[in-house]
Amino acid sequence: MNEAQTPAIAPATAKPTTGPDFSGLPLSPAVLENLQRLGYERMTPIQAATLPLALAGKDLIAQAKTGSGKTAAFALPLLANLNPRRYAVQALVLCPTRELAEQVTQEVRRLARAEDNIKILTLCGGAVVRTQVASLAHGAHIVVGTPGRILDHLSRETLELDALNTLVLDEADRMLDMGFAEDIAAIIKLCPKQRQTLLFSATYPEGVAKMAAKFMREPQEVKLTERHATTKIRQRFYEVKDSERLHAVGLLLNHYRPVSTLAFCNTKQQCRALVALLQAQGFVALELHGDLDQRERDQVLVQFSNRSCSVLVATDVAARGLDIANLEAVINVDITPDIEVHTHRVGRTGRADEEGWAFSLASMDEMGRVGRIDEMQGRASVWHPLSELTVPADAEPLHPPMVTLQILGGRKEKIRPGDVLGALTKDLGYAAAQIGKINVNEFSTYVAVDRCIAKDALRGLNAGKVKGKTVKVRRL
Ligand code: ADP
Ligand code: MG
Repeated sequence: MNEAQTPAIAPATAKPTTGPDFSGLPLSPAVLENLQRLGYERMTPIQAATLPLALAGKDLIAQAKTGSGKTAAFALPLLANLNPRRYAVQALVLCPTRELAEQVTQEVRRLARAEDNIKILTLCGGAVVRTQVASLAHGAHIVVGTPGRILDHLSRETLELDALNTLVLDEADRMLDMGFAEDIAAIIKLCPKQRQTLLFSATYPEGVAKMAAKFMREPQEVKLTERHATTKIRQRFYEVKDSERLHAVGLLLNHYRPVSTLAFCNTKQQCRALVALLQAQGFVALELHGDLDQRERDQVLVQFSNRSCSVLVATDVAARGLDIANLEAVINVDITPDIEVHTHRVGRTGRADEEGWAFSLASMDEMGRVGRIDEMQGRASVWHPLSELTVPADAEPLHPPMVTLQILGGRKEKIRPGDVLGALTKDLGYAAAQIGKINVNEFSTYVAVDRCIAKDALRGLNAGKVKGKTVKVRRL
């Protein structure tokens, strides 16, 4: 049950079937053995291109699309630079969002297992500073976090970087998009001059080039700009009147029946209106917006990534930093004026060699934007009439395959995914295949179960025990 351990927002898998294996790299036998255990048999193209340089101590600018395995490309070099017997922060990884920082932490932790007792700490906004200060006082070898909070700790002097030897800027383009340029510059000023700097980015805008020129030492550049395999993403445009736009989303969902869809709107108001309409039509739809507190945001993302929510509706800003695997469809509810943004939206489907749909709803007013998209993509957009979106009369309503149950109790109660899986399979007799992703948060645990066992499983868990204790469980 590999599913049980996957993070809240599972990254697209990069597992390659071709490419060189890791044994040619200057890595210790313990590290190589650990990679084997993790199922890392061959390097992804970005790993093959960067690891030899990075393990030789070079500064590096690496550009590759999401899901290509960039984390290991910087985690292995930073671990190689690390002295576990030295109790000081030796590596710092800056990430644009808390979700990404947590994903990186999990991945680095898995890769660090070859060595005993490597301490990794995540420092992000939204968490209590005092708790972080206490954890820092216990010592850490590696810190992963967002620039704002890292800078905060540096100015409080609760974090020191005197012993730092590796600095990683992950998703540098997104960090700049989010306005972290000054914070990053301030952090770098506090890093030792003598260090290795690794910069990773999905795109390579001017801001990133400038930052690299300023803070890096003769960086080697590696670009793998293999575009999203466009054949894997099927794009279709539908012409709509503004009055039909929101209604057309439901038609698309019922016609194509994607399990997970990310719907982009240009404004918050439109997000709100769309979610209300979809819910009224019986879809399980949730909105991701900036006004959610951290716990609410976590709940939305957990439900979407474990396939118990069919549609996530978001603005580009709210969806920034999300990395969700297995999106069957992206819907552009309106056409964004920014063509790069369009490419980004569309590129979220069809990851990891899966096929994906990208639907765009365009009114006459938006045809100019579509023209520019065509120009950039170097091909004409494919148009289909709304009238083709028919649904058979006897069709089942589109329901997500899973339902999320929330167990009130989490890491604080020392619940682990295996405990929940055990309660459902050993105690209640369900098949492992009926249980989906299990996310253990600080105070809550979320488990996805097959829709048809949801009611019984809820009753069973409430009547039974998890980790020897009775628990309260509710359906989200
Ligand atoms: P990126 O940062 O480029 O978006 P990640 O580093 O998050 O991509 O990797 C995506 C997924 O691929 C992760 O789940 C990771 O465990 C997996 N992965 C990375 N490299 C390999 C590899 N060489 N073999 C198998 N799986 C890999
Ligand atoms: Mg990454």
